[in-house]
Amino acid sequence: MIRTVTGDLPGIAGPILAHEHLQIDLCCQKGPEVVLCVADQEDVINDLSAARQLGLMGVVDLSTEGSGRDPAALRNISLKAGLPVVGAAGFYWDPYPQVVFDSSVEALRDILIRELSEGIGDTGIRAGIIKIGTYLGEFGVAALRVFQAAALASRATGATVVTHTSAAEQAAWHLDTLVRAGMDPARILISHMGTFHGIAQLIEFGRHGTMMGIDQIGLAARRPNAELADLVRDACAAGLENQIILSSDMARKTRLQRYGGSSYSAVFVDFIPMLRQRGVSAAQIEIMMCRNPQRILDFTSSKP
Ligand SMILES: [Zn+2]
Repeated sequence: MIRTVTGDLPGIAGPILAHEHLQIDLCCQKGPEVVLCVADQEDVINDLSAARQLGLMGVVDLSTEGSGRDPAALRNISLKAGLPVVGAAGFYWDPYPQVVFDSSVEALRDILIRELSEGIGDTGIRAGIIKIGTYLGEFGVAALRVFQAAALASRATGATVVTHTSAAEQAAWHLDTLVRAGMDPARILISHMGTFHGIAQLIEFGRHGTMMGIDQIGLAARRPNAELADLVRDACAAGLENQIILSSDMARKTRLQRYGGSSYSAVFVDFIPMLRQRGVSAAQIEIMMCRNPQRILDFTSSKP
């Protein structure tokens, strides 16, 4: 069962972008262009419709409390674009919202469970995945509390936990903290693994059985697509295709098609052809684009 902002689905048959933002507001943290707001809704709908023409069958919005999450907008966008959209339960990290400092692990767990099972705020719109993360620097008591709460909420509901790493070195703490709190590594998706320095590091980390996001495709400021394509090729050659998802982490107005970007089509038009050129098979692409995200989103599945 996949829980979308318009209701539960038995599954989604086709490519899913598992790390995106349809609405987000990180102006304060990252500058005035890192926003997709109500004013951009028409552009987001148009760009998703364009990606749907290329095969896109579902999209996950990983904005949370504290980073411009807007469940009503997600529902509107989903209906207008004709595309299933999954929203996220969770807490942003730069900084964490006040509730994280004021609440126990159990109280935070209950907030997440409520967002997944009853709805976000008073919208009645339910989240279908948990998103958490850490900012640069030491992992403080707030981070530990959020990660433990997320693990408990995941165990109670079956929802996957997606973590944002602000630097690749954080991935080990994320995984370790969630596993210590009782999580199955297969229900953990660590984001931004394209920032890992090379294939050896990815293979080493992949041994733990966790899911890994190569999810900033088209975000040239991070890493050029050609380097990411080499990394994915090498990962597939090492047998890691069952643990990888591909997505573009759309969060900037300037990446919308209106401003000349590839927008939600980037993975399809810019990246998949590069994988094919490098000898990644159609079956491997299908696993990373369809099977893995479907399994991550399915509350009733576990092992890859
Ligand atoms: Zn993101």
